[in-house]
Amino acid sequence: MGCVLKDAILSLCDGMEARFISMRRAFHRIPEPSFAEHQTQAKICSYLKGAGISFKSGVGGTGVIADIKGSRGRTIALRSDMDALNIGEDTGLSFASRNKGFMHACGHDAHMAMVLGAGLVIKRLGSDLPGRVRLIFQPGEETPPGGALRMIKEGALGSPRVGAIIGAHVVASVPSGKIAFNDGAISAAADDFRVTIIGRGGHGSNPHECVDAIVVAAQFITALQTVVSRRVSGLDNVVVSIGKISGGERDNIIAGTVEMVGTIRTKTPDLRRRVPAMIKKLLHGTCSGFGAKGRFEFIAGYPPIVCDEKFSGLVKRACTDILGKSRVTKTEELRMGGEDFAYYARQVPGTFMFVGVGNKKKDSSKSLHSSRFDIDEPVLKSGVAAMAYSAYRYLSREKEA
Ligand SMILES: [Zn+2]
Ligand SMILES: [Zn+2]
Repeated sequence: MGCVLKDAILSLCDGMEARFISMRRAFHRIPEPSFAEHQTQAKICSYLKGAGISFKSGVGGTGVIADIKGSRGRTIALRSDMDALNIGEDTGLSFASRNKGFMHACGHDAHMAMVLGAGLVIKRLGSDLPGRVRLIFQPGEETPPGGALRMIKEGALGSPRVGAIIGAHVVASVPSGKIAFNDGAISAAADDFRVTIIGRGGHGSNPHECVDAIVVAAQFITALQTVVSRRVSGLDNVVVSIGKISGGERDNIIAGTVEMVGTIRTKTPDLRRRVPAMIKKLLHGTCSGFGAKGRFEFIAGYPPIVCDEKFSGLVKRACTDILGKSRVTKTEELRMGGEDFAYYARQVPGTFMFVGVGNKKKDSSKSLHSSRFDIDEPVLKSGVAAMAYSAYRYLSREKEA
C-alpha cells in the first residue's frame, strides 16, 4: 500500500509538473502587499474551483481555506502564505511582476503553488483518502501582527479540529532538490521597537543653547551595541538592530528630535522580556546624561516556531521515504528570522520544511527579499510530493493504530 501510494504520488507529480510551474508563474506575475492579496485570492479560488475542491474565501481578510474530504479520520493542514514585498523586481523573467513596485521576493508564489499542487494531487488520488486535508492560504505573513492569528480566530484550525499542520518556506541556502528540517525553536521571536529622542532644536551656530538630538542618538546607537556584546551571555542567540533613523531639517538647524526603529530577535521568553527592558534603560540613561528625553515603544512581533518533535519525525521519515535519504537534510535557515507559522504550531503539532532552491547554475541562489530572487522551478514537484505524501502518512497512521 505504502509503495503503491508513493509511486502514484510520484507519477502524478511528474504528470502535473507543468501545472505547478504555471500556477507559480501566474502568482509571480501578480504580487500584492500584505492584507491586500485580492487578485491572488481570486486566482487561488479559481484553481480550487477548477479542481472541484470546496473552499471558503475571505477568511482572515483575503485568506482561503479548502478541504479535501476523504473517509472519516483526522485532519491535517498544509499552510501557505500569500503576500509579496514592496520591492521592484529585477530578475528580467518573462513572468516578472506586473504590479509595479511589488515582487514575490520571498517565494510565497512557490508556497501557494506547492500547497495547491499537493491539494490537486490528493484530490486526483481520490477515494481512499483516510481523513481530511485542509489547505490554508494566509494573508500578510510579512507584516506583523501577521495573518495567522486572524485565520485561527476565524476557524482555520477548527471544525473539524486540525490534528497537525505543515508549513514550508523556500530557501536558497539549501541546495535545490533537498528538503531541510531544523529542531527546537527554529525561528526567533521577532519584535520591533521605536525610539524617539527629544532634545531642543535651534540655530546651528548656537549648539550650547540647544540639546542636539542627533548627537544623543549617535551615543545611544553606539551604546546599544553593548546590549548584545556585554549584557547577554555569549551562549544566547540575540540580535538587536536599528533599521531606520530620521531626524533633522537642514544643515544649519540643530535637530530637536530623532526617531528610529529597530528589531530585536530572541529565542527564549526570558530574553524576550529582558532585552527590551535593557534597551529602554540604556535609552533613558543616555538621554538624561545629555538633558534630552527618550521615549521607548515595544512592538510585539511573532513568537518563535517550535516544531513538534514527534510530528516532525513522521514528516521527516515520509520525506526520506518518497525523496530518498540524500535529499533530506538539516538547515540553520530562519535561525534568527521570524515567521507567523509559529501561531499555528502553538495550537496544534506543527513542523516546518525548508525547500531548497539554491542552484548556482540557474542563478537561483539569491537570498530571500533580494530584487533578483528566483527559485529553481523543478523543486516545486519535490515540495508537492513531500507535502502530499506526508499528509497521507499522518492520516493513515491513525488507522493502523
Ligand atoms: Zn519574507
Ligand atoms: Zn517568506
